Amino acid sequence: MRDIWIIAENTPWARTLAAAAATLSKGAKTIAFVNGDEAAAKDAIAHGAAEAYSLPLPADAPWEAYTPALADKAGKEKPSLILLSASRRCRDMASRLAALLDAPCFSEGKNITVSDAGVTVSTMLYGGLAVKTAATSAETALITIGAKDFEHGAADPSRSGKVGTLPLSSAGVTVTGRKPRVAQTVDLGAAAKVLGVGRGVSEQGDLVVIRNLAKAIGAEVGCSRPIAEFFKWMPEECYIGISGQQLKPQLYIAVGISGQAQHYFGIRDARTIVSINKDKESLMNQNADYFIPADWKDAVTELLKAVQK
Ligand SMILES: Cc1cc2nc3c(=O)[nH]c(=O)nc-3n(C[C@H](O)[C@H](O)[C@H](O)COP(=O)(O)OP(=O)(O)OC[C@H]3O[C@@H](n4cnc5c(N)ncnc54)[C@H](O)[C@@H]3O)c2cc1C
Repeated sequence: MRDIWIIAENTPWARTLAAAAATLSKGAKTIAFVNGDEAAAKDAIAHGAAEAYSLPLPADAPWEAYTPALADKAGKEKPSLILLSASRRCRDMASRLAALLDAPCFSEGKNITVSDAGVTVSTMLYGGLAVKTAATSAETALITIGAKDFEHGAADPSRSGKVGTLPLSSAGVTVTGRKPRVAQTVDLGAAAKVLGVGRGVSEQGDLVVIRNLAKAIGAEVGCSRPIAEFFKWMPEECYIGISGQQLKPQLYIAVGISGQAQHYFGIRDARTIVSINKDKESLMNQNADYFIPADWKDAVTELLKAVQK
């Protein structure tokens, strides 16, 4: 196997991808490309990369402007695998890189196996309703990796390796202004307990009832996609599922959520799943470890009383 490249939009992603590369590499060299400064590149070395290049955010171009330079280098050096963050930014970069390299690209690859014959990867189809497993013997294959799919170990500051900066070729797009995103108020990924709000909660004002229970048990509050995307009751960062956040909390309580595959995908790795849904037969109830077949408001009020006791 030739080199494995990792392309990350920040340091936490670079660490996850370095862990993925270490698992898949079979001793092949890992070369990292990380958005940031020299410290970001050195961090990638400390987490297992043999070589690392910083890709600083250009003043007047989007970060994705590195794509042609990366494609040019990959075309010459022909890494076996290019692993990218499954973040919005890197998903976009992955598809453009794949097109420039005329290489196969797998989104959110799972069960990845690498052999002399090539790479086998499973990906989801139909919004998570089916899984497709495909193999490729292409010279270079690109795979985007989910944030929770590989856990990185501690940094080893004694590691050393070549550190550089990738020069930017012509961007093609000029950034005329930047404004910060409204800060995300919750870190669902770090929460041990999460309450998910679904369309069964019909009034925005009722969120206060759910937040009271969340506060009492030390949980964060997330939601299903319609609550964030259509009703706008919560920021889009708060919705859970295949196209939102994928979580691994100790406890997930779904409140008025039907449990469609696209939502369930985001919490299927929770240790314990509880569903509160008045429809006993709902998918969420069927897939939960425990379910309460009741009106959510009655159930949440009773749970809050019990916790307060
Ligand atoms: C490509 C694609 C990607 C998608 N990605 C995502 C994603 O990432 N995340 C996501 O969440 N969705 C996603 N969706 C949408 C998904 O398919 C569902 O439509 C969505 O999850 C449904 O949200 P919900 O469960 O809140 O609402 P509903 O499906 O309307 O369910 C509401 C539930 O509340 C229950 N209920 C009603 N009243 C009460 C009450 N008083 N007390 C208790 N229970 C009550 C009902 O029995 C019902 O089960 C995606 C869809 C597509 C096509």
